[in-house]
Amino acid sequence: MHIRLQTRFSRIYRLTYTKVGEERNRIGGFKYQHEVGCSSLSGTGKICDHITRSSLQAVMAEPALAKNHKEKRVFRFSDYDCIGFDLDNTLCRYKLTQMVKLEYEVLAEYLVTQKGYNAEYLLKPLETDIDFLQKGLVFDFHKGNILQLGSDGYIRKGSHGTRFMTDAEIEGIYGPDRKWSVSVAFCQNLLEAWNGPMSEKIRTLSDYFDMPAALAFGRIVDSLDVKEGNKLEFYNVWPDVLDGLIYMFKRENFHLDTGGYFSALKRNPEKFVNKCSNNVINWLKQIKHSKVVFLLTGSHVDFASFTATNSLGANWRDLFDIVVCYARKPGFFTGAKPFLKLDGLTETDPIGSEDLEFGNIYSQGNWQDLYQFLAKKTGLQHPKCLYVGDNLIQDVYAPSEYTKCDTVAVIEELGAEGMCGDDTYFHSDASIIVSECWGSYFGGKEEQRDGSSLWGIITKKYSKICVPDLDVLANLPLTNEFHMFSQREDDSDLLGYYPGCPKSLKQT
Ligand SMILES: [Mg+2]
Repeated sequence: MHIRLQTRFSRIYRLTYTKVGEERNRIGGFKYQHEVGCSSLSGTGKICDHITRSSLQAVMAEPALAKNHKEKRVFRFSDYDCIGFDLDNTLCRYKLTQMVKLEYEVLAEYLVTQKGYNAEYLLKPLETDIDFLQKGLVFDFHKGNILQLGSDGYIRKGSHGTRFMTDAEIEGIYGPDRKWSVSVAFCQNLLEAWNGPMSEKIRTLSDYFDMPAALAFGRIVDSLDVKEGNKLEFYNVWPDVLDGLIYMFKRENFHLDTGGYFSALKRNPEKFVNKCSNNVINWLKQIKHSKVVFLLTGSHVDFASFTATNSLGANWRDLFDIVVCYARKPGFFTGAKPFLKLDGLTETDPIGSEDLEFGNIYSQGNWQDLYQFLAKKTGLQHPKCLYVGDNLIQDVYAPSEYTKCDTVAVIEELGAEGMCGDDTYFHSDASIIVSECWGSYFGGKEEQRDGSSLWGIITKKYSKICVPDLDVLANLPLTNEFHMFSQREDDSDLLGYYPGCPKSLKQT
């Protein structure tokens, strides 16, 4: 797990663009070395963290032709030489009802006791507003609004605090086209708002770790409106909510037993972590028999070992050829942070790709070095790589847009909301991730425009296939042929969803 915690400190980021040569890259731009000097919470991260697409393409080691197979519209696991997996919410599935409830309670308690917000609002049971929760919502921090976006920044739905706005209200605030300039820019480049100035205006809640922050934010806005007797001109709530997320999730907490969240998981892992099925474990073993398998997780090595042990078993390391922890996704796929050796839980010396070894665990790092390592180990100049993950920005958009690594999206909402042609799928935590008031995570049919949500579009455009969990794949041979998404925004083909497309998108 890596939750983005840097926003509060965006002012200390130092972006410098240094032109390193007159040579033009493939798309006509000059080569730039883009450095972000930053002091992240861990106190690490001195060098390149994020670079523009054009500059990245200039230094890419991978072949331009590697994506030609996209046109085949058939996806097979057996076509890949190397397959990587995310850990949290991909291989390791959580008992989301318990997990989200814990997150909300720790966050709300912090906001009341440390920031002085109204307990009457924040300490109401989560269950009172459970339907308000949805992954992928977007904050307009300053207006106190929470938005659900379409593909081009179009505001499908919105609330002020926890109160849903009417269409007239949305159009009154954002214009008749319902497009906020910041959300439009965000949709054009999902990494723009990851750090830097835009991250002070907008943020999305991209997974189950930060999903409950929307309710905390909304309830605070509600309380301030009541106290003031009206809407405020400007809300400065987000920095406090972010402080709460930092308090809860900073990586030192696991080791130190602080922050309330990790300590609760450590005390009672069975309450929060599902065991991975034997089917999936055997499937991983089968893949490793013929391919390089890597684990690439944002979690620090201690928490990663804890979740992997509790979900995959004590011998989890045997399932992977190489393990990368604390990978700073999405920056892992766009930047050049070196891999660091680990001495127990402590990060030590940087290490080049030529010195990485099978069987080891490393921290941080970057895709280009990993790719060179994979090329050396497979003996292939251009090994075909696939990454399987749940976070549509970190695990799907970033690798697909900025590298030649293909992706599979694991989206639990697909199973929880229901799939066409499969009425047997059961998700035990559906009530916490399915929202009647926001509607489908993937969007729905609309009369005058493409009804897909931003996330429905990202899934179709940047993943090969989308599944609700790995169990639906585990009994199939690696040579199984899946229809894959066409990866065109305007394409209504939904066949890349497996075993069925979201009911909300079913064509009539
Ligand atoms: Mg994950």
